[in-house]
This record gives sequence, structure tokens and C-alpha cells, in this order.
Amino acid sequence: MKMCVSHWDQLRAALRAEKLSYLISDGRIDEAAKTIEAGIETINPLVNSYSAILANALKTGGYYLLMGDETGKPYCPLCELNKHYSKEASKQWVKEAAKEQRIIAEKTGLISDN
Ligand SMILES: [Zn+2]
Repeated sequence: MKMCVSHWDQLRAALRAEKLSYLISDGRIDEAAKTIEAGIETINPLVNSYSAILANALKTGGYYLLMGDETGKPYCPLCELNKHYSKEASKQWVKEAAKEQRIIAEKTGLISDN
């Protein structure tokens, strides 16, 4: 699975809307994927929200998502979600993932809630 550029940009925008910009690294999708694959714990909300979306996608959509499509191209978890549920589903997931990271950042003292 690999998030498409459009959904990646939506996730970054949602995290910026939650005022988490300063906790986000340059935000390259390949670097986030490497961090997740290596099992490295991070405070980076971009990596953590991406990881949460991947986990939810597997739970919701199933393990076919781990394989690529017929051309070998990796599936975008959010494009697949929209395809199988509704076009608004990915927007909701992105918003919820960003909100969750905001709550974590507040709880861990990385940001204040005002
Ligand atoms: Zn997508």
C-alpha cells in the first residue's frame, strides 16, 4: 500500500489545520513508509497518522491491499476506501487521523491546547 499524492497532500493539510505543522518533517511519503516498515517509534504526526490509516485500511479492506493491482502498482488505502464505500469516506478518515494526532500531541505536552 502506498498513499497517492492527492491523499498524502490531504493528510498534510489536515495536520496543518490541527496546527501540527511544526511536528511534521519534510513529509516525503517514502520516508514515512520506511519509518513505519522499520517499526521506528516517532512523534511525527504525519508518520503516525499514515500508519493509523494503513492499519485501519487493512482491518477494513483486508489483506488484498498488501498486493498491488494487476499492474503491480501499490493500492492507495484511501482511494480503495472511496471506491468501496463512499467518496466522502477518505475525507472523514483523514480528518479523524489528524484529530487523533492533535489529541496525542496535547496529551504528551508537545503542544498546548490553546
Ligand atoms: Zn488515494
